[in-house]
Order: sequence, then structure tokens, then C-alpha cells
Amino acid sequence: MPHLKDTLIVGAGLTGLVIGHKLKLSHPEHQVVLLEKSPSPGGVISSFSDAGYLAEYGPHGFLDNCAESRELLEETGLEAECVRASLHTFVRYVCINSKLMVIPQSPLKIIRAPLIPWPDKFRVLGELFKKPLTGEPTVAKWAEYRFGKALLPYIDAVFTGTYAGDYNELKIDAVMPGLRQMEREHGSIIRGALAKARTARKKRPKGRPLEMPSMTSFPDGMQRLPQRLAEMLGQQMISLNSAVTAIKKIPRGWQVEVQNDTYQAANLVLALPVNQSLNLLSGLDGEPPLKKIPEAWIATVVFGFDQASLPPGFGYLIPEREQRFTLGTLFSSNMFPNRAPEGHIVFETLVGGRRHPERLQLDDETLAAHALADVKELLELPDTPHYTRVLRPSGGIPQLEKDYGRLLQWRNDLVGRNHGLYVCGFGWEGIGLNDMIKTACSVSETISSRATQTQEQAEAKKIYF
Ligand SMILES: Cc1cc2nc3c(=O)[nH]c(=O)nc-3n(C[C@H](O)[C@H](O)[C@H](O)COP(=O)(O)OP(=O)(O)OC[C@H]3O[C@@H](n4cnc5c(N)ncnc54)[C@H](O)[C@@H]3O)c2cc1C
Repeated sequence: MPHLKDTLIVGAGLTGLVIGHKLKLSHPEHQVVLLEKSPSPGGVISSFSDAGYLAEYGPHGFLDNCAESRELLEETGLEAECVRASLHTFVRYVCINSKLMVIPQSPLKIIRAPLIPWPDKFRVLGELFKKPLTGEPTVAKWAEYRFGKALLPYIDAVFTGTYAGDYNELKIDAVMPGLRQMEREHGSIIRGALAKARTARKKRPKGRPLEMPSMTSFPDGMQRLPQRLAEMLGQQMISLNSAVTAIKKIPRGWQVEVQNDTYQAANLVLALPVNQSLNLLSGLDGEPPLKKIPEAWIATVVFGFDQASLPPGFGYLIPEREQRFTLGTLFSSNMFPNRAPEGHIVFETLVGGRRHPERLQLDDETLAAHALADVKELLELPDTPHYTRVLRPSGGIPQLEKDYGRLLQWRNDLVGRNHGLYVCGFGWEGIGLNDMIKTACSVSETISSRATQTQEQAEAKKIYF
């Protein structure tokens, strides 16, 4: 006999957990089960702790500027536990010509800073007169067209830091749809940004300074978030070690195969990274324009030092043209308290990414030795680390490159044609934790409103009879 439910959620990463949590909150009577292939929930979110050091396999935190994420912290009681590092006080650096350059957070300070020569600054202002670029350009093409060549290393660093990606491949429409809209609406990004700042200033109470968001995590690391959500959902709602092998449309909804078990429900949510959704969707209702999208995999090398200090700030990123072994470093013990034993520092150095998957083939010892040699050219450190560990995350970061727009359209059409099917998760509507939480809230609201509608229709029929 199949298990009968109202909603099946495939994947108990952050996306699946938030959808489950929201449905339980709004409709406690709604029968939901999360099917998760691994032995624990959380997906790529996983914290590491050893010998007094705390580090992350996956995400290090999220910015507290998203209403849905703040609401989630309140609902889960995690707001009181959060640790925060404000962008206002924590600077970031970009490595240019083997030196760490501070990147100021305000646009005015960026213009004044000696990041690019004055003639290039005037070229950046030329953006005001550039027509919107048509087609589907890559980030690099688009940025060069609008702002000139001089800013490219900084823009490269931004996409190394977020996607571990290659800005010569990532598509601007996929990774920054908001900027493209601004370009179309205002004819210029600078003009659009000024208009946005004016609106924000008008909304802000008089005399209150502009607030900067904070990087947010938890004393025991990011894993606390999925752990708390799973705890609130309860064991009976999450079926671990349950890899979904096939999905099928049936007259009353959806059927899902899990090893030797079968589930049926009115709603089926695939809360999975793009490639894992594509595997399950193959052959369901036409073939997608892409069988697979590229992913960027990284390794994180955790270095602990005694008798050492870090420059102030979050850390630094390195553009590709610097030709270094590492992608950048997070100054973890600067960002959050208790990440290293008393009197020690810890930082996490990233290796690999979309452009250098071959570096991940190295064994841990060689990879860590190369990473340390690279970091030591940029930071003043004692000879030998007190602690070294290589962490390899359980998933890659989806890359929104060529034909991603067509894939998204295909997904939207598929979901439109197949009532009760929802496809979301890592890489579909962005790649950040805030993106996942926002989408999860919107999916759960749609399911809830349809559940209410169905109930209302059923009740109306009853009265009619
Ligand atoms: C190395 C790394 C660093 C990151 N850093 C940041 C950061 O600093 N800030 C930030 O905002 N974001 C960051 N992100 C992105 C963030 O982690 C993701 O947006 C988010 O965790 C994705 O959650 P998800 O639930 O959609 O996907 P996942 O976490 O991938 O979860 C999907 C789940 O589905 C399960 N699953 C897969 N196939 C099946 C199947 N057939 N049957 C059943 N279960 C299945 C998997 O086991 C997994 O548990 C980072 C990501 C990575 C990889």
C-alpha cells in the first residue's frame, strides 16, 4: 500500500525544511512528509568543529536584509541565538597585483578610493550614456560594455566570492536579473541606483543613518538552522535515508518511488539542486533544453594559528588574472566569536571553483600545502599552522550559464502544465540562503492557498448538497 499524503517534499536541505516548516505552521492538519536521501537533514549546510576550531563545509552565513529570513529566525526562536558581523564595520579586500586592497562599502567612498586610475573613473561615469545591452551577455561582457575594463577584476572577484564561478560564462540575466531590470527601466545602472537610494532615503525616518546589513550565523555554526527546523518538524515528518528514484503523475496527483516504498500525494515539491531535479524530471513531460548545468565545486582549507593576528575585516577575494592557487580567504575568527581556541586565530581558504576543478584532485596534504604557500604571500603569519584541515562540501554550486534562461522557461511551463508540481531549490531561483528561504516561503504560500481553496470548494459543495 502506498503512503498517502497531501504534500511530498523531496529533499530536506534548507529549501525543503523551510517549505515543511511553513506548511506545518499555516496548516497543522496538512499531511506533509520530507523524503531525504542522506542520513541527516540540511543538505550542503554542515558545520565542522574540532580541537576548539569551528568552520563550515558549506555556507558561512547570510545577510540579515531579507524579511523572510528574519521572520524565519523569529518563528524558530533562533533570533536570540544569532551572531552577527556588520558590513558597516567589517571591510573586505580584493587582491590586486599581489596586494590586498580595501573595498569600501559606500559607492562614494569606492569612487574616491585608489582602486582604479582617474581616467577609468570617468569611463565608469560614461555608463550613464550607454544604451541597454541587448541579447544574453555574460557578466564580463556586460560589465565591460557598461563600465569599461578597469572594474573587471573587482567584478570577477564578486562572482568568485558568490558563485565560485567564471564571469566569462555566467549570464548576467540569470545571476543579476534585478540589475538588468534597472538597466531597462532607468537606461543606466548608476541612475537606477541613485533613484533607489533616493526612495530609501525618503522612507527612512529623519536623522536615522543608512543601515548596513550584517552577516549572520550561530554560535555553533550554520548547521544550527537546519537542525532547529528539523527539530520543529519532528522525526515523523522527515524520512531520512530515503532516496527518491522515480516520480510519476497519477490521476489524483503524484506518485513517488523510494527504494522499496511508494508515496502518493496531491502536491509534489522537488526541493533539489537543479541537476538533481533534472534527473527526476527526465521523461516526465518532455525533455529539458539542457540535461545538466555546470557546477562549481570547492574545497575549504581551515588554518588555525597561535601567536598571530589577521587584518581587520571579513577576508579577501582574488580575481583570476592574479593567477594564484586560491580563490580567497575568510577571516573566520574576526567574523564570529569562539571560532578558535583562546589566543588563536582561524581562517578558511577556498580552492577550486568553476575554473580550477583540477586542483580538487590533489590529496589533502598537497592541496593544503599549496594553499598555505599562497596565503603566506598575502598575510603575515608564523611559519607553521597550529591546525590544518581540508573540508570538501557535499555539493557543488550551480552555475547559471548558457541556455539557463531557456531551462528556467521550460521549468515554468512544466510547472504550469502539471498541477500540484513545484520545482525549486539550489540554483533555480538564485543560489544564496536568502533566495532559498524566499522561494520556499512563496511555494508554501501557493500550496497553502490551494489547500484552502480546495477546502473551501469542498465546503461549498457540502452546503449546496
Ligand atoms: C560550498 C558552498 C558554500 C556556500 N556558501 C554560501 C554562503 O556563504 N551564503 C549563502 O547564502 N549561500 C551559500 N551557499 C548556498 C547555500 O548553501 C544554498 O543556497 C542552500 O543551502 C541550498 O539549499 P537546498 O535545500 O536548496 O539544496 P541542498 O542543500 O543541496 O539540499 C538538497 C537536499 O536534497 C537531497 N536529495 C538530493 N537528491 C535526492 C533524492 N533523489 N531523493 C531524496 N533526497 C535527495 C540532498 O541529500 C540534500 O539534502 C553555499 C553553497 C555551497 C555548496
